Amino acid sequence: PAQEAYQYPLLIKRVFQTGLRYETQREICYRGEKRFTYREFGERVHRLANVLTEAGVKPGDTVAVMDWDSHRYLECMFAIPMIGAVLHTLNVRLSPDQLLYTINHAEDKLVLINDEFLPLFKAIEDKMTTVESTLLISDAGNTTADLPNLKGEYEALLAAASTSYEFPDFDENSVATTFYTSGTTGNPKGVYFTHRQLVLHTFALATSCGSFDNNRLFGSNDVYMPITPMFHVHAWGIPYAATMLGIKQIYPGRYEPNLLVRLIKNEKVTFSHCVPTILGMVLGADEAKGHDFGGINIIIGGSALNKSLYKQAKSAGIQLTAAYGMSETGPLIAFAYLNDQVLAGSEDEKISTLVKAGMPVPLVDARVVDANGNSLPHDDKSQGELVLRAPWLTQAYFNEPEKSAELWEGGWLHTGDVAAIDSMGYVDIRDRIKDVIKTGGEWLSSLELEDLISTHEGVREVAVIGLPDPQWGERPYAVIVPQAGATITAQVVKEHLAPSVEAGVINKWGIPTQIAVVTEIPKTSVGKLDKKRIRTDMTSWKEQ
Ligand code: ADP
Repeated sequence: PAQEAYQYPLLIKRVFQTGLRYETQREICYRGEKRFTYREFGERVHRLANVLTEAGVKPGDTVAVMDWDSHRYLECMFAIPMIGAVLHTLNVRLSPDQLLYTINHAEDKLVLINDEFLPLFKAIEDKMTTVESTLLISDAGNTTADLPNLKGEYEALLAAASTSYEFPDFDENSVATTFYTSGTTGNPKGVYFTHRQLVLHTFALATSCGSFDNNRLFGSNDVYMPITPMFHVHAWGIPYAATMLGIKQIYPGRYEPNLLVRLIKNEKVTFSHCVPTILGMVLGADEAKGHDFGGINIIIGGSALNKSLYKQAKSAGIQLTAAYGMSETGPLIAFAYLNDQVLAGSEDEKISTLVKAGMPVPLVDARVVDANGNSLPHDDKSQGELVLRAPWLTQAYFNEPEKSAELWEGGWLHTGDVAAIDSMGYVDIRDRIKDVIKTGGEWLSSLELEDLISTHEGVREVAVIGLPDPQWGERPYAVIVPQAGATITAQVVKEHLAPSVEAGVINKWGIPTQIAVVTEIPKTSVGKLDKKRIRTDMTSWKEQ
């Protein structure tokens, strides 16, 4: 008889078991206050699985988490999918209405909630349509709270639970995680990932950022701390990779700039990742003044990395590397790899490569296409939409057939980003399609302008958008936060950009004639420049 094909599903439990096999004494640390060895972490994940099962969670149920970045969150990232349930990481920075929308839309059954979010939860509790029970998390040591069908407090429940749980095998195509895009237009959209997808994503991370000697960012002796919220695209999936490699991990709780710097110093963190604005916040912390970060590697993603931030970080002893991805892609797609040709080049060429979105990571197929879907040449000049195929892209937006069809038009995932690919294969993100400024019959990249303006020493932060213009179609408009004591005017910006016009980097109509000097630029729930709000709040700013 023919031998039956054997089954070995790619499940998150395999990632979990691997890390525990390699390291048992390494630490997982919370805010420098609580410490667990990998062995204890392993036991706690088993205990949590028992707690959830006893609370009535069944395979296929969705379990939501509302917590700051913590060891508990890491435990949930494993225990919830490993019992066959779906982890919904709630974006605690959404407006109450949007948060409610995501809870109902994802059909959450049980919510684990840190009592610091009680007021937010209470405000929307009455309108929740699917939540059946809750579980309390408390840093303050509270053991109870006014919550619907409260099953108990996390630590007490864990302490009472058994350390053994037989994690079953099941279909690797079962959904493991879900979360919502930040919803810059309309309602947030749900994306979701299967066990198989997360396992493959974990391996892609460990091989691209972890193994390539030409730009290796983390290995098993590193100390890892995320500064990207765990609710946002699984903290870029890096906690899964760090656990698989048995790396020491630090979870900082709520992001307080001074605490972040203290943790980096005290716990000797060597590897982290964040969006540019959060790095700015860390660099601006009192505790960071005059501190040399000793070569810590930080991946910058979520927004373009500009050269001035790269250099500022470098002078503080921080090595930045850009990466590219989005909620829909799990997120890792490209990473700034330095190949032999680049390494042989000048320092400036290396920096230019390190700030680019980078080389698509293993197993990813990336193309730049024109409006008809034709592939464009890899000449660094031809710009079009970046479209993708890879094993770990969301298959759809949850229960949104029309938007899903648009996302996957022609069998490729449409990123909504304008990019160019060079002859070596490096991807450079030029702009979001909706942010490109169409002026004088040409496309002007808002990112490129921001990059150029940011190199002026008096500029702390800058955002550029297009404003309607009867003659040119659109004209660039720059919103600038100056450095303390600096004076920035339209004339200063014009003079600063003049050499770039002369060198042909931008056209003369790329010089913003209107600028606004402000004290703060609005940010999205994950700390990116919020161009939608800049557009709507603009008029009042112009009057300032
Ligand atoms: P949101 O769309 O709400 O910002 P995402 O986190 O999914 O949510 O953002 C993904 C987008 O962030 C990408 O489509 C791209 O526009 C931008 N982005 C991510 N990484 C980079 C990068 N390295 N360079 C430029 N833009 C980037």
